[in-house]
Amino acid sequence: MAARTTIRRAGAAAVTVLVAAGTAVGATAGHDAGRGGDQTASQQSGHRGDDRDRGRGGKDRARNVIMLQGDGMGLAARELIRLATEGKDGRLVMDSLDEAGWTATDSADPEDAVTDSAAGATAFSTGVRTFNGAVGVDADGNPVPTLLEDAKRAGKATGLVSTAQITDASPAAFGAHVTDRYDQSEIARQYLEESRPDVLLGGGEDFWLPAGEPGAWPDNPAEDPEEQSKGTEGNLVERAQELGYTYVSDAEGLADADGRRLLGLFANEEMFQQANEGEGDVYSPEVPLVDMAAKALDVVSRDRDGFFLFVEEEAIDEFAHRSNATRTIEAGQALDETVALALEFQEKHPDTLVLVVGDHATGGLAIENVDAEDESGEGATAEDGPFPVPGTDLEFSVDWTTGGHTGEATPITAQGPGAERLSGPQLNTDVHDAVQRAMLPRGHR
Ligand SMILES: [Zn+2]
Repeated sequence: MAARTTIRRAGAAAVTVLVAAGTAVGATAGHDAGRGGDQTASQQSGHRGDDRDRGRGGKDRARNVIMLQGDGMGLAARELIRLATEGKDGRLVMDSLDEAGWTATDSADPEDAVTDSAAGATAFSTGVRTFNGAVGVDADGNPVPTLLEDAKRAGKATGLVSTAQITDASPAAFGAHVTDRYDQSEIARQYLEESRPDVLLGGGEDFWLPAGEPGAWPDNPAEDPEEQSKGTEGNLVERAQELGYTYVSDAEGLADADGRRLLGLFANEEMFQQANEGEGDVYSPEVPLVDMAAKALDVVSRDRDGFFLFVEEEAIDEFAHRSNATRTIEAGQALDETVALALEFQEKHPDTLVLVVGDHATGGLAIENVDAEDESGEGATAEDGPFPVPGTDLEFSVDWTTGGHTGEATPITAQGPGAERLSGPQLNTDVHDAVQRAMLPRGHR
């Protein structure tokens, strides 16, 4: 808990700085049909658009969108994080937003009933259900415009942040179009040459460099000897730098970076070590999620036209795959700290829509009384715990049903312009539609 409070304060300090900058550059929303290159021009043309919109719900317009995702964060996972962190009477920050609903998670896979993260994120990013493994394409494999691309077209800054490989399925669904989520070097290439997010922060350096070029993160490290550069599209770090990105690979570099376009790769693969309890499981990202998000906000909030920022905590899903409740809770706490940062930004910039989503649930976890007589499962799905309930003498166990995903709905909370459209039951594709309506003037949808 102590570490948690400290990180939260660090996040708050970062926000204070960028809030001052944001106020100086302009309190008026601007939307531009053209590209965001010339901020003054887009600001001027944006004024007319705003006046026209104001008569029919312009106050609903979200200049900025911060979309936060707990990968694999179903209701049971969210409650696990709450109970273990805040106790029975406490509340997570992510549960304090004004609006709440739930979203069905179905994909349009011809073989599997339950979605994967690629199809789940594609439903959120494009409003189209597709087959599992598909990234930013419809069920026929055709590219579909994403919320990030919509934002870019409206002149907004854009960013992707994840503790997974930044080319992993969820962020990829916002900035790339491929039929196979594992085509990660192609996803990276599309980021640089096509969708061009201003900020890319996460893991996955292995996909940006060809075999034999280890880069800043050495090949075959002791903690995971299989990790090594395996890019298929040449040296994409150099390509990024040619295209104007500042490249950083550690926390210090990120803190010092001051470019308007930023690429940070902070691990060979994920920014944590996915494993069962006591078998090399580590959640200790080179840069905490909240610090990546703070830096991303610092950069994208300089754009007068606003921004779209997607921030993901991947470790909730990946540790649930290993039925590792301890690390699932830790990752959930990291997400909650990041939601606090987003809400502090939103308080200073009320024209910001903040939403917290989960693409699917993972592990089929159940919070249970500690009971030696109760079946525990075996191997990967054995019970975890007991865990203390803060503020009580009580303990609970976590039982797991599967090492895979499960098909229930996931909670969604939201605050800011357009948030009310996200209350109540939603399809995953509705989430896209609500964000798009909030973010774009009528003529841009
Ligand atoms: Zn998963």
